[in-house]
Amino acid sequence: MTTSPDSLSTPEQNFYGPCSRKIHIDGRLHPIRVAMREIELSKPYSFNGQTFTSLPLYDTSGPYSDPAAEIDPEKGLPCLRDEWHDARPGTEPSQKSPHRPMNGRTPLRGAEGSSVTQMHAARNGVVTPEMEYVAIRENQHLEEWMETSGSVRPPVTAEFVRDEVARGRAIIPANINHPELEPMIIGKNFRVKINANIGNSALGSSIDEEVEKAVWACRWGADTIMDLSTGSNIHQTREWILRNSPVPVGTVPIYQALEKVGGIAEELTWEIYRDTLIEQAEQGVDYFTIHAGVLQEYLPAATERMTGIVSRGGSIMAKWCKAHNRENFLYSRFDEICEILTAYDIAISIGDGLRPGSIADANDEAQFGELKTLGELTLRAWEQDVQVMIEGPGHVPMNLVAENMTKQQEYCHEAPFYTLGPLVTDIGAGYDHVNSAIGGTLLASLGCAMLCYVTPKEHLGLPNKDDVREGVIVHKLAAHAADLARHHPAAWLHDNIMSAARYSFAWDDQFNLSLDPARARKWREESSPEAGDKLNEERFCSMCGPDFCSMKKSREAAETRQK
Ligand code: SF4
Repeated sequence: MTTSPDSLSTPEQNFYGPCSRKIHIDGRLHPIRVAMREIELSKPYSFNGQTFTSLPLYDTSGPYSDPAAEIDPEKGLPCLRDEWHDARPGTEPSQKSPHRPMNGRTPLRGAEGSSVTQMHAARNGVVTPEMEYVAIRENQHLEEWMETSGSVRPPVTAEFVRDEVARGRAIIPANINHPELEPMIIGKNFRVKINANIGNSALGSSIDEEVEKAVWACRWGADTIMDLSTGSNIHQTREWILRNSPVPVGTVPIYQALEKVGGIAEELTWEIYRDTLIEQAEQGVDYFTIHAGVLQEYLPAATERMTGIVSRGGSIMAKWCKAHNRENFLYSRFDEICEILTAYDIAISIGDGLRPGSIADANDEAQFGELKTLGELTLRAWEQDVQVMIEGPGHVPMNLVAENMTKQQEYCHEAPFYTLGPLVTDIGAGYDHVNSAIGGTLLASLGCAMLCYVTPKEHLGLPNKDDVREGVIVHKLAAHAADLARHHPAAWLHDNIMSAARYSFAWDDQFNLSLDPARARKWREESSPEAGDKLNEERFCSMCGPDFCSMKKSREAAETRQK
């Protein structure tokens, strides 16, 4: 491992600007300190009788934006959650996997007859440290604003989190073996989240690059990351990513199982898959994508499609079913899978193995047939207190997007929806991150809980760091736009302060409040190089120039009226 610490601990000013600082909010029920970033504003901004000289932000960057933190990728991040659970009742040391994690811990599992899932605790009326953490985190330290701004959404309480998790309408992916994690929640009554996929392939990239991409994605705003590695060193790559990830990590375990049988789908067995689940569970993977809804009865319809089966996991299981003329073992062994998930508190993302890969295939018989099966599996997982989210498409034209949300909620009992896009056209090569964000914004505004990002390299190649940045930020925009549509008071406040900063030419505030302060600052500086030190005093930009700046003229007119 030769990852340069310099690249992982790049000063936060390089990302967020000099006015960003790390803050921590103490819990009331548990010994937790919830990390956020706060932007110091250059002047006060007043709305609804409240004045803001700073704005706290939801922060996914973990210790990487904390100047007080020591970052050493060879040691990994501090085991934050271990400090909250002195002795985890109902657990026992596990020796089921031969691998030892690099954080030196002995992996834990639920003892026989015990359940350690957040859902189990919630259903028993318990507010865990993780539930309190996400409640404080969702509020961004803006409880007073939420109560007085006239918003239809009150502040989130730990009890509300508990009730949503108990009902299955939200999940907190947090494997008991991922103590480095800062808990987050996925559900339609919370902020819209985004996931960034990383992972090497058989054709390129190294562990170093993938760890750097993971950290990079978190710093730009990824709420979870999925390690989709398919090449060599899968276990080691995942170990480094987990130990250095402050956000939940998801995987598709069938990929590693397939590596174990030399890439020959027909040779997959339940035993190989089960052992792979346990191996990853003991490393600390927080959620598994499992394509258990790809049933034999749906395959003929999928075969007739324009683009067949485009999910990797879906195509692997379809090939296995056809070769053996048997039902998908992920379906027939689903209850045994749930027993494993329960022992480590791993959430299941029930995969949409038959998602449409082209708009011609959107909302077809195979897709919605599988979705009904995902609903059936949701109930089976809930019987064992396993937290569930449902994966969704794919390629869907705008006029068919809403139906996906309606049917998912109906068939899957309001379990959180987690979708890839959808991409709303098939011709976006090179710009599919924007294509995906268009569909994602619409779907999230209707209730989708998490968007899986797409990078500009979608359909073309393995994304590099720059592609990850583009993909994350474009999908943060989509998620934020949906939060506005869903009346999230913190999102509205963020926009209002930005607009006021823009109208008063408070350039530093505009940079610091944007999703990519580094780019906003750089492009502003490049557009007026002659301004030099006077740049921040300019009341226009090079877009319209001083004589045609409508904001400037509008402000001057208002100031004249006031006089
Ligand atoms: S010059 Fe045009 S684009 Fe630039 S701040 Fe003024 S109105 Fe906006």
